[in-house]
Formats: sequence, C-alpha cells, structure tokens
Amino acid sequence: MIGVKRLAGAALSVLLLSGAAHAAPKAAPTPEARTAARFDAIVKDRAQLRLFLRAMPKGGDLHNHLSGAAYAEDFLAWADEGGLCVTTDVLPSIVAGPCDAPGKVPAKGLAAANTALYNRAINSLSMRSYNPGADGAMASGHDQFFATFNRFGAAGDGKLGPMLAVVRDYAAGDTVGYVETSVNPTAMGDLAWSFKDTPWTGDFAGALAAIQPKLPAMVAQARQEFDAAEADADRRQGCLAQKPRTGPCAVVLGYQGFAVRILPRSVVFAQLASAFALAEGDPRFVGVNIVAPEDHPVSLADYDLHMRMIQFLHAQYPNVKLSLHAGELTLGLVTPRELRFHVREAVETAGANRIGHGVDIAYEDGAHDLLARMARDGIAVEINLTSNDVILGVKGADHPLALYRKAGVPFVLSTDDEGVSRIDLTNEYLRAVVEQGLTYADLKAAARASLEYSFLPGPSLWASPRAPVAACAKAGPACDTFLAGSRKATAQWRLEREFQAFEASPR
Ligand SMILES: [Zn+2]
Repeated sequence: MIGVKRLAGAALSVLLLSGAAHAAPKAAPTPEARTAARFDAIVKDRAQLRLFLRAMPKGGDLHNHLSGAAYAEDFLAWADEGGLCVTTDVLPSIVAGPCDAPGKVPAKGLAAANTALYNRAINSLSMRSYNPGADGAMASGHDQFFATFNRFGAAGDGKLGPMLAVVRDYAAGDTVGYVETSVNPTAMGDLAWSFKDTPWTGDFAGALAAIQPKLPAMVAQARQEFDAAEADADRRQGCLAQKPRTGPCAVVLGYQGFAVRILPRSVVFAQLASAFALAEGDPRFVGVNIVAPEDHPVSLADYDLHMRMIQFLHAQYPNVKLSLHAGELTLGLVTPRELRFHVREAVETAGANRIGHGVDIAYEDGAHDLLARMARDGIAVEINLTSNDVILGVKGADHPLALYRKAGVPFVLSTDDEGVSRIDLTNEYLRAVVEQGLTYADLKAAARASLEYSFLPGPSLWASPRAPVAACAKAGPACDTFLAGSRKATAQWRLEREFQAFEASPR
C-alpha cells in the first residue's frame, strides 16, 4: 500500500509518498480501496465504466504514431486549409491540386458542398463503418487499416504543429499526461531517401561511414523544425499565456524516430542511423522504432537483417532506447516459420527495451524462456487491443495479454493509431476490463508502468513497486532536487497527484 497524504507548505508538491503505511485493524477504507469498490460496482455498466475510466489518470500512451493519431476529419480540415483535393472514387483519397481535373473536387468546403462524399472520405481515411464480411469485395481490416495512411498522407505534409496540437488535445481529453509518438523530421526523411539508389552491400560500417558526415546537419534541421512546430502547437492551443500549463498544454510529448521496414535496405539503414543520431542529439527524441506491416514480403525477407542493423547501430549509440514493433503477426497471416522468432530477435539480437504488439508470442520457439527473460529484464510489451482486433482479428481470449501477465512481463495499454481506429486510450482501458478481465488495481499498475517503462530520461520515482526513492520518501527539498533532475520522476509524481485527486472522489 502506498500511503498518500497532504503536506502543507511543501515547496514543489503537496504529496508525501510513504512506503510504511500501517493499516489499523478497524481503519476506514483507503481512498484506493474505495475507488476499487466503486469500480467493482459499475464494472458491468459500460457507460458508467466509460465515465469512470475516462477520468482515471492513465499516465502515458507509449505506442502512438503521430500520423495515425489524427482523425480523418482533422486531415480533411487541413486539406481544406491547404487547398488540396479529394478524389471522387469509391474509396476517396486526399491528393494535390489542381482540383478541376476529372475525378477530383476541392477539399475546401466539401463537408457542406457534398456531405455524402465527405462522409465517404471519412470512411476511406479510417476504420469508420468498416464492416468485414458485409461485402465480399471489401478489403480486409488489415488492408483497409494500412491503406488509409497513403490516402490521408498528403494532408499531413507541413502540418507538424497542428498534428502535435491534435495529439495533445486528444491526450488531455483522455486524462493522459505523456505521449510517446513516432514521428520523423522532414530532414531525416530526405536524407534517408537520398540513399534509395545506393546498393546494399551488407557492410554496416561502410554504410554508417557514408551517412555519418551528414547526420549533424540533419539533427540541426530537425531541431529547428520541431522548435517551430512546438511553438505553432503552443500558439494554436493558447499555451504561451499559461503558467502553469494546463489541459492540452500540460501534455508532455516524447518522440521516436523510426525506420519503415518495407523500404529498400539502404534507406532502412539510413533511417535507423538517423533515428539513433536524433535520439543521441536532441533530448525530445527519446527512442528509436521500426514500423510498417510486419507481414509485408520485404519486412519478412529483411527481418533478421533489420535486427542486425539495429544491433550494430545500438553498439555505436548504446544509450539510445529501443521500442520495436515485433510479433504483429498471427497464424494464417504468414507461414508458421515466420511466427517463430520475431519477438525473440527483437529482444536478443536488437536489444529492444520494449516490444510493440508481441501478438505472436505463443507461436514463438522458446516462448516460455523468452517471456521469462522479458519479465526478468523489465522488457515491457505495448498492448494495442483495438489495433490487434482490426488488423489481425486477434481479441478476447485469443489475445496473449493474459500470457504476458501470467509470466510477469510488464505491460502498458496504448492506442497505436487512435485516429485510424477511431478510438482513444479510455476505450483501450475499457476493452482491457471487458475483454481481458483487468481490475482497478491492474489498470492502476498499467498506468504506472506507462511512465516507469517510458523513455523519459532520468531515474524513476520508484525504488520498488511500492516504495519511492529515499529522496522522495517525504516531500521536501531533497525530493524537489531529485524531481528537478528527472523528467521521468516528475511525470510519475504528477501521476500520483492525479491518482490522489481521482481517488478522493471516484465517480
Ligand atoms: Zn504501431
């Protein structure tokens, strides 16, 4: 039990975290116990549960793709602003102008001018109204999901500031204080793509030597782009006048640069090298990822090579954290041999600190040993329940979350692509309750894990799962100093305060 009580006059915080709370035999239930009882009382009522879970502090969303976080309506609004067009085919896309060509209409004013097309575009740009089986000709959930990114991509160009604002807005509405989102700077994309015609020779050191002289300028350009985008997001959300920041302005963002695993090998290597350099050179870039459909023929053919590329670069940049999509596969999607090793190689070869999805774990060779290693080494798995349902058709008792939990592997709940899936993190918490049987205590542990296993820099607030570090055993100057030196602990302290407020009046 973590005793939490108010302290008057503490310089930084009113919180005291104590690991030595002793309950008297007839003590009144703690706020945490009252909140858990409230949760148990409403757990069968989805609407009440939704209300409860929305207000519940959730810490971080650690598996979030910036472009997949915006909703179709956001992209259509940016297309409207930017003078882009919408195609008039069955599955409309946002495309560049001019718009007076056959098969295209202006995005400007489309919602009013042609509501039917606007609505069809929302469906085409997301999973809305997607109903597998309703039409034999319809793309699979997997294909519809991944196809959306090309359909809305043009509207995201040059909209980094608005996209950051949107992701903060959704997080604040969801009681999420931190989002670790995958996003690549423009300069990184340009640099990596310049290697598209460079043949891949398998010489890691040579490939790194070819790109290394260009990395400092790329990092400098990326810094400028993100400085400007963050300032734009702050302006849009009125953050500059806020002291302290509240609502969307108080949402902390961390970025992960990423490689796209379906691209040519020389480009993937250049993306990875760039992502490592960014994570080393700009503290806002907290980690490195690798994305895109894992079942794509190129992803499958190059999987082992990609893990060795990451292993090589990780040795050059040993302090950089890795969250790797791995095991976003299931039986039937690929051959059984492809199901046997992806999570394991991400852990053992690449040295992943976290695994994204990990859905195929029960099909992997040596799964028990791998799970034991993940538990022992604190390699968390990012669970994306809706995404796994719509892309892989894996949900409920077929989902391996229970297996991970039984093995003691730390897990977090995350959104993956909340805009494409038209969900929020509250919905994922709700699914975890309804489909996976998680309790209030389980969810609270998951929320805490979302900061503990985040890539926010600095030491953790927690010395053990139930006790804070000695400096913060009580609030005061020592704890203030500790928090000032750790962005992670600062976020964790804030989460504890949010839990204190939530549990004081759970509804
Ligand atoms: Zn993902």
